[in-house]
Formats: sequence, C-alpha cells, structure tokens
Amino acid sequence: MLVLASSNPGKLREFEALLGGAGLEMRLATAEELAALPEEGDAYEANALAKARTAAAASGLPALADDSGLEVEGLGGAPGPYSARFGGPGLLDAERAQRLLSALSERPGASRLARFVCVAAYARPDGQSWTRRGECPGLILEAPKGERGFGYDPIFQPEGHTVSMAELEPAQKHALSHRGKALRALEALIAS
Ligand code: IMP
Repeated sequence: MLVLASSNPGKLREFEALLGGAGLEMRLATAEELAALPEEGDAYEANALAKARTAAAASGLPALADDSGLEVEGLGGAPGPYSARFGGPGLLDAERAQRLLSALSERPGASRLARFVCVAAYARPDGQSWTRRGECPGLILEAPKGERGFGYDPIFQPEGHTVSMAELEPAQKHALSHRGKALRALEALIAS
C-alpha cells in the first residue's frame, strides 16, 4: 500500500491512472498524516519532498507526492510554484486562467511560450527519498477552450498539438503531461 500525500480525490484518481500498469494500491493521506506539513515554499522539489516525507513518517508507509506549476515566458517564469495561488485566494480555476490571459494581453507571440513543470517525490518510512522532474512545453492561447482537465488546461496548447490540454482525452494528456513524465520516471523505484 502507498499513501498519496494529498487530500484531493481527483489527484488520487489521476495518480492511479498514471501508475495503473504497476498494479499498486494507493490511498489518500488522512488529515492527521498531513498535520505536520510545512507551509509551501517557492521550489517544486522542496515542496514535493516535504509532502512525501511527512506522509511517509506519519503513516509508516511509502508515500508519493507532487508539486507542479505553469511557467510563462512573458511573465519571467511566473506563476511557477505559485500557480495554485496566482491572482490571490478564493478564485475559481477559470478566474485564475483569465487573470493570466489579462497579464499577457497585447504581448508578442514569444511571451506566450510556456511549460507545465511537475516534480514527483517518493519517500519511504526509513527516511530514503527520491524526486523526478517532468516538463510539458507549449503555449498560452488567446482564449480558453475545452472542458476537460483542470487548472490552466483550457488556456494551454501542448507543443505539436492544435488543441488545448482541456480538449485532449485523459489518456492523451497522461501520455504527454508533466505529471505523467515525472511519475513514469519514478515508477521503477516505486515498484522495487
Ligand atoms: P499542484 O502542485 O499539483 O497542486 O498544482 C499547482 C497548480 O498548478 C494547480 O492548482 C494548477 O493551477 C496548476 N497545474 C498543475 N498541473 C496542472 C495541469 O495538469 N493542468 C492545469 N493546471 C495545472
């Protein structure tokens, strides 16, 4: 059994789909297991490791975590690790995406180059831990399109595609996403 250092059932479903081939059983961490989690910082690696180590130490089971964000060329790489908080607290995903479009309005094409970044962390209760990074390059669209996915998916067009991330089937997104790449890179370690 693996613990996912998150309280989000959507994330559990996504991790199960991404690691489906490995035949692993996974559950969400409990509130108690995440109680000692430190405040999120400004680096994906440190954030992901802190989550995985906290859940592994509290549960006595191997734990997985991730930390991710969207880096936009014209915003100097922002919002990056602050993606979930961009625009301030209490916004819906669609409002946050709209703020990002406004910040980029009337900017030249190169400003719209962007990438999703994910660092996945795996920690064992004996204190050993590992991280792997995955990236998905693309560009920020002029307007949202598509209904699938979450977060910034409707305004992000992956490189080599003519549709947004929110128009891809889940299996297509998993094949090219930053999270898919990071988790597949950890898969052999998790299975060992
Ligand atoms: P987390 O670290 O996985 O919780 O992600 C932080 C934030 O980055 C999310 O709240 C989203 O705003 C954004 N983000 C991360 N991954 C994705 C993705 O696959 N699609 C769209 N937005 C994402």
